[in-house]
Formats: sequence, structure tokens, C-alpha cells
Amino acid sequence: MDQNSPEVMTAIQAAIKASVLCEKIRMDLSAGESRLKSDGSPVTIADYGAQAIICKLIREMFPNATIVAEEDSRELRRPDRSRILGQVAGYVNAFMPVSSLEEVCSWIDFGSNSTTDRFWALDPIDGTKGFLRGDQYAIALALIEKGVVKLGILACPHLYADVHRPLGEKGCLFFALKGKGSFQMDLGGTNKRPIFVSKVASPSEAVITESVESDHADHLAHRRLAQRLNISKPSLRMDSQAKYGILARGEVTLYLRVPFSAESEYKENIWDHAAGSIIAEEAGGRVTDVIGRPLDFSSGIKMEKNDGILVSNGILHEAVLKALEM
Ligand code: AMP
Ligand code: MG
Repeated sequence: MDQNSPEVMTAIQAAIKASVLCEKIRMDLSAGESRLKSDGSPVTIADYGAQAIICKLIREMFPNATIVAEEDSRELRRPDRSRILGQVAGYVNAFMPVSSLEEVCSWIDFGSNSTTDRFWALDPIDGTKGFLRGDQYAIALALIEKGVVKLGILACPHLYADVHRPLGEKGCLFFALKGKGSFQMDLGGTNKRPIFVSKVASPSEAVITESVESDHADHLAHRRLAQRLNISKPSLRMDSQAKYGILARGEVTLYLRVPFSAESEYKENIWDHAAGSIIAEEAGGRVTDVIGRPLDFSSGIKMEKNDGILVSNGILHEAVLKALEM
């Protein structure tokens, strides 16, 4: 697989289309139109719309592809959701002709929740809370073969493209191919360039990125770790796998996701880390869990064999793992 492979071209085009849809909805959305899934996490018409577009484009090109994706159409099909389903169909129709509401549901349901030897992992909107807040979010798509991530794409429609101009133009797409490096381009598909992690070699010079949501990781543990390593720069809190992207382009040095104490039974979802991890690694970074184990993408939709996440520029990885043991 290279940059011109059908998989890569299709996935990038799908992520770009989904980004445009999400930004359109974000502009139109009033807070009242978000709603809560039964597990309490917010989901919007954008999650469904992005999943419909991406699944449809992948299956059109690869009819037998397995796509493991976060959403399904169950709730959307409820009679009291018909207005929302109509909205999803309306937005999707701007990108591809939709003949019926049922058709949109069937595209969303190309997504399944069981993995195979070779499958796509999709989070149509990673960081939905960031999306709703007007902060960062990402469309995350990865191709996984025998537990190894071969291709990762993160479209970040609301992320500044130029590190030196944080108030400048927004919208960028990161992608990486196994063994072939990591790249950033703009959402028009132009200005493609290779990206690399920072060369910071002294922990005291490091910059940490972590979740905005304080219940997604133990931020107090992050503070203690920063003190142990004499890190004085403030950490950068950001939603979604955009954190992997900014680490891969050298803007920050460490991404910490330390789980709450041993009682925390939370296991990470593969679609929350597959695309980001290959983008950080191919840019020269290292990705493990907080006790140094490689991420395991071969145990189904949950990363059962991992606890938390540590991403670094590689150079600082062992020092951070050691400090995490203390
Ligand atoms: P972030 O924006 O980095 O905080 O990550 C967003 C992701 O966190 C969502 O896609 C969720 O799947 C995931 N998430 C939800 N609850 C938790 C939790 N208790 N611990 C860690 N991650 C979580
Ligand atoms: Mg997510």
C-alpha cells in the first residue's frame, strides 16, 4: 500500500467529505440539538452523518470491507427520532444522493462491532464533547491487519494548520502508512508535507498534552508526574486524537492518559487510538500503555490488554515510564 493506493485515496476523500459535513453541522447546530445516548455520551447528527458518508464510500469501493464503527442506527430508527433521521439524511444528501431514510440507516449499519483479520476502525467524531463545545474533534479512520495498524487518518477540521499561527487557518488532515512516514495536509487535499516529532531530550523541556475532560484521565497523576520530571511548562488540554496529531508534528512532547487507580475498569476503544497511534509512530514517536506494553488492536473493540496510554517523542519514553512506576 502506498499513498496512491485505492485504500488511501478512498479513505482520505471520505474523511475530507465527512469533515465538511461536520463543520457545516457545527455551524448550524444549536446546543438544543445535541442529545444524549443511553450511556450519557453526547451524540449528534454529525456523528451519524459522518459515519454514513465514510461507510458508504468505503463499501462502494471495497464491497467486502469490514468496518468497525462507533455508531449504529438503532436509536435513529425510533419513531420519535424521525426528525433527527431526516436531518441526517438532508446533510448526507449534499454529498451523495440519498433515496430514502432507510438507505441512510443502512449505510450507518455497514459499521459492525466485531473485528476480523483485516478491518477498518472508524470513530466518525472522536471528541464529541469538544465538537459540541466548539473545540477540537477528529474524524478517525484506520485500517488494521492482523492487529497491526497499516493506515491511519485523522481529519481535524477545527485544528490550526500552522503551528506558528494558532489563530490562523483551521482544518488539517494527518495520515500515516506503516513504514512510510506521517504527513499533514490541508482539508483541500493540498500542501502535503512530512511531519516529525520534537527532538526535546530533556524532560524539563517537555510539553504534555492531555484530555480536556477531567474524567477521561487522572489529571492529578499527570501533575505529579510533571513535578517528578521537572516539567514546568503548562500542559495543553485538547479533545480527541488531535493530541496525537500535534505530538506527531512536534508541537508537544508527551501525551498522557493515566487511568484512575486500580479500580478504574475503563478499557480504551480501538477507534480512539488506532489512527492516532500510527501517526505518532510514523513521525518518530513511541506509543505504549502506561506500563510500557505495546497497544493491542487484536482483542476486539476494547483494548483489553492495555491500561491507559503514553505517547512520546521516543527519546523521553523510558524516562517517563520509569517516573510512572514511582
Ligand atoms: P479525549 O477527547 O481524549 O478525552 O477522548 C475522547 C474519548 O474518550 C471518547 O471517544 C471516549 O471513547 C473516551 N472515554 C470516555 N470515557 C472515558 C474514560 N472514563 N476514560 C478514558 N476515556 C474515556
Ligand atoms: Mg472517540
